[in-house]
Amino acid sequence: MRKRTWKLVCMECRAEYSGTSPRYRCECGGMLDVIHDIHAHRGHLDVKKWNDRRYSHNETDRSGVWRFREIVLPVHYEMVVTRCEGNTNLYGSPRIARFTGMDNILLKHEGENPTGSFKDRGMSAGLTAAKMLGMTQVACASTGNSAAAMASYAATAGMQAIVFVPEGTVAMGKLHQSLAYGARTIQIPCDFDRLLRLVEDACLAGGVYLLNSMNPFRFEGEKTIGYELLQDLGWQVPDWVVVPGGNLGHSAALAKGFRELYDLRLIGRMPRIAVIQAAGANPFYTAFRSRNPVAPLAKVSTFAAAIAVGNPYSWKKSLRGLKDTDGLVEEVSDREILDAKLAVDAAGIGAESASCATVAGIRKLVDSGTIKKGELVCGILTGHLLKDLDTVINYHQGRLGELSAGHVNPLLRAAADTDSILEIIRNVD
Ligand SMILES: *Cc1c(COP(=O)(O)O)cnc(C)c1O
Ligand SMILES: [Zn+2]
Repeated sequence: MRKRTWKLVCMECRAEYSGTSPRYRCECGGMLDVIHDIHAHRGHLDVKKWNDRRYSHNETDRSGVWRFREIVLPVHYEMVVTRCEGNTNLYGSPRIARFTGMDNILLKHEGENPTGSFKDRGMSAGLTAAKMLGMTQVACASTGNSAAAMASYAATAGMQAIVFVPEGTVAMGKLHQSLAYGARTIQIPCDFDRLLRLVEDACLAGGVYLLNSMNPFRFEGEKTIGYELLQDLGWQVPDWVVVPGGNLGHSAALAKGFRELYDLRLIGRMPRIAVIQAAGANPFYTAFRSRNPVAPLAKVSTFAAAIAVGNPYSWKKSLRGLKDTDGLVEEVSDREILDAKLAVDAAGIGAESASCATVAGIRKLVDSGTIKKGELVCGILTGHLLKDLDTVINYHQGRLGELSAGHVNPLLRAAADTDSILEIIRNVD
């Protein structure tokens, strides 16, 4: 047997667990981290090996998660559940740079993952953990991108996926990917908080592996956004990495990942992480500014659905990461998110609304002088344009209420004759 190079450690009381049986949190209730034996790896890991794997014909090596497997989850090839996730593009757009007030800006488009969001990276690791633990059923309580990713990766692994949703509050349109990928979808008549507790108890008793946001292995997959970003940059460390924050999982994961590379001496300094929240769903922003614990919000209000979270699971891990990277939290209004989305979409890139909080946040931080013009700034676009059809259609039809004020791109109409068509195409601006 190879020597195990990781274990689970409680972030509160430091209790350790082997991770060889399903466990989602510590006996004390604290969240768990996968802690890798950095000393065992130091000197044995080099970026050249990771760079070479990127061009491999083997999809596990080529995966943007598993090419870094030594410090993600060292398992045998057959155990890995992958759709060759990651390998997302890093775009430099002069138009978006101008929009934010920068000379240059780089946007890593995680919407280019197999199911259209970065959740694929976490679920690739989560389903691999499920397989490693011998589980055959996986579950999560989610209405959006997490459920879609879990359903796809469970299908890939040949496992049964179960998605729990609160009855009556979920738009069926948001579940279409889960249904398509074959997940059993169960509605329960209660609110989301109660649903989470019920699902946790039922999964423990029923031997179903739970892939909710507290699952420690998901963080290991999500942190590879940062590894691949550094690879894209030829291992040049950016000054800022800017991300939207909802449950605050991937911001926490990014910071953990950068710390590991720093401790491995593969990077010489840490980038600063900026988390951007919607002003209508900003409990982390409020807590960060006032130096208080997060006080959950009973009601949230933002059209950026993927970050409409009032009670973020992972705020303690994210806060730890911000302290470690000299990071910060900013908030942006729905108007600012929408303006950023219009700019990102019209630049030909396109992204889900929540993703565009990143660009709105960069603009605001440049405006306030927090981000300096010459700095190297990388924003993460978390989800695909196609995740959010309603927002786009409604906006350009002028049906997004007061948010529709501004430049719209309405659907045009010409009569079925050449003159009418010429008349229109000569007048388009
Ligand atoms: C999940 C998600 C977020 C929020 O990420 P957290 O890790 O929960 O903070 C942002 N954008 C998209 C598209 C997402 O799917
Ligand atoms: Zn503990």
